[in-house]
Amino acid sequence: PRKIKKPRHSLGLTEALSTPGPGNSGSAASLQEQRKELPIAKGRDALIQEIQNNDVTVLLGETGSGKTTQVPQYILESGLAGNGMIAVTQPRKVAATSLAARVAAEKNTSVGKLVGYSVRFDERSSAETRVKYMTDGMMVRELLSDPLLSQYSVVIVDEAHERTLRTDLLIANLKTIQKQRNGLEAVSGKGKENANKPHPLKIVIMSATLDAEKFSKFFNNAKILYVKGRQHPVKIYYSSEAQTDYVDSAMRTFFQIHTDQPPGDVLIFLPGQEDIESLEKSIKLFASQLPKDEMEVLTCPMYASQAPGQNAKVFAATPPKTRKCILSTNIAETSITIPGVKYVIDTGMCKEKRYLARDTGGGFDTLLTRAITKSSAMQRAGRAGREGMGVCFRLYTEDAFNNMALAPEPEIMRCSLTSSILQLKCLNQDLEELDLMDMPDVDSSESFHIPALCISLIPATVASALKTLWLLDAINRNKGLTALGRQMAFFPLEPVHARAVIASKENGCTREVLDIISVLSASSKLFVDVTEQRETAAEARRKFRHPSGDHLTILNAARAYEEIAAGNAGKAARRAWCREQFLNERTLLEAAEIRNQLRQTCGRLGIDWKVSCGDKEEPVVKSLAYGLAQNSAFLQPDGSYKQTMGQSTVKIHPGSVLAEKKVPAIIYDELIFTNQIYARGVSSVPKSVFASIGALNRRTA
Ligand code: ADP
Ligand code: MG
Repeated sequence: PRKIKKPRHSLGLTEALSTPGPGNSGSAASLQEQRKELPIAKGRDALIQEIQNNDVTVLLGETGSGKTTQVPQYILESGLAGNGMIAVTQPRKVAATSLAARVAAEKNTSVGKLVGYSVRFDERSSAETRVKYMTDGMMVRELLSDPLLSQYSVVIVDEAHERTLRTDLLIANLKTIQKQRNGLEAVSGKGKENANKPHPLKIVIMSATLDAEKFSKFFNNAKILYVKGRQHPVKIYYSSEAQTDYVDSAMRTFFQIHTDQPPGDVLIFLPGQEDIESLEKSIKLFASQLPKDEMEVLTCPMYASQAPGQNAKVFAATPPKTRKCILSTNIAETSITIPGVKYVIDTGMCKEKRYLARDTGGGFDTLLTRAITKSSAMQRAGRAGREGMGVCFRLYTEDAFNNMALAPEPEIMRCSLTSSILQLKCLNQDLEELDLMDMPDVDSSESFHIPALCISLIPATVASALKTLWLLDAINRNKGLTALGRQMAFFPLEPVHARAVIASKENGCTREVLDIISVLSASSKLFVDVTEQRETAAEARRKFRHPSGDHLTILNAARAYEEIAAGNAGKAARRAWCREQFLNERTLLEAAEIRNQLRQTCGRLGIDWKVSCGDKEEPVVKSLAYGLAQNSAFLQPDGSYKQTMGQSTVKIHPGSVLAEKKVPAIIYDELIFTNQIYARGVSSVPKSVFASIGALNRRTA
């Protein structure tokens, strides 16, 4: 097991004695007071000095000490960034948008001016912007247009301990860029004179866990600084036995706290949006049955796909005689600090991305619900002790805790690399040759054998990504990027979706394909999952059903909504309509934004998004099939579907329009693993279409 070492340098901060101010309570003056109270404030000058003196600084500090909101401001105020911008990367969209909002408020301005953000499908920045909060994915994307990141003088990689795939790729690139920009290595290539060299680059790596040695080592033993937070003792309770239904036991625990314990807000950690929504419903229902003289309950959900601004009530001060109950994914573990929390309920579960290509032949990540790691459990408990003594209820046994893995495996070891490898190809980089902190395992027994493609001993996930890219015609058999691949990388989409959009040009149906792909790219599903009113929902949805399957059904629903919206239905009427149809309006609104972006991208690539095929379906499914060729299956005599490129037999998901039908060939968006393998998001494709898709013919070439 890895040892967690003590950091080597301390900024010499001691525990602050004052209590932090109230939550986000308005005036600029009070925000300035709050800033001064943060643990990091006392180390400000020392910190600036260290960043000034070192190219790379690793900064550790307990969650809530002020790293993410203050460090960029300190750097800005000190003038250390010169005329360049300061980028702060975050693994999650909501963290980037909500932190930008907070810092803009602290600077007494609105988001998009001095302080901005940039996340996939959404950007708020201007020529005035000096501090930009962005997802790590957007930063990697920025490399495509600005390989030296010359606009930035400081890049702060935040939440580095999460080791997301994009963070790892970014860190690898930053190391090389810094060498080039700071002149440690001769700048290669002709015509690059010193005069054109951008401002030197400062790198700050920030993390909430004590595991910083690895970052420091990677950057030639960079200096590690430590901010001491104000952590109060947290009393931990374990379940005496394993819980089978964590949502139910979270609810019971919450009401025990609510009826027996003194005031203080409760933070519940759950794996994902579905569990959050279902628990919120039960808590609201139960709370409404409590005697009138009890404290009220205010529920606040918090998850990654929430729209910006939707989480404002999480930060608002809790009203009198009320107990706030925050239901959150691991986003509240270290990225976002919510004031007022005294009790934590930890279900011990989280969602983790995993790539399941080997046995299925598809190229997709699946989100699996699984047990958290020890470092997560410790972070979660810590959230109860930020403002005073706290209590954490772990809905698992002490044995289970002792058996947890220490820290999660870096994403690069377990996620699909397809889209990243495509982006790297555009930068003339090969993932397997990068100087990475960790490299996926090479296990020859798991490697793919594709005779036509030169894949030797490389990690299985790299091989699988290369195979997908090759089947999409994004790379050639020498692993070189094709013109098509370069076009695909322009789209902020998964390569399979980008391929479908490009195919829509030839097939004359770009309008339709963009409508569908933007719904598929939204963060939640269009059709609301219902358990109680299944019959009513099915009835309401019947009118959208398209005989060819789920993709054109989505198109029908999206178009119906557009008609409603184009008429003079007000906001409330549109919302009511969506509720009646069991459609998720948030998905439709998000899809509209995504579609705007995709239309712009099409414009830049000379693809006319206005071209439509009218009511014809074949051009649409054909275009989708170009992207989803790997996710296809043919009907067998026994009524099952056999994958064309994998070994598995799949069933059509019961929620699909095609569930009861038998069609000769299907494509699908994803596979769901339960006791069976289900294909979800299914469309019927004429077998003849497959004949024209190179990928399927080449797999045996
Ligand atoms: P760290 O990065 O060290 O975890 P942060 O800089 O994120 O710390 O947080 C510092 C303080 O700012 C915390 O007390 C937190 O409650 C507050 N804060 C951060 N974001 C918001 C927000 N959107 N609204 C209100 N308060 C916020
Ligand atoms: Mg932070």
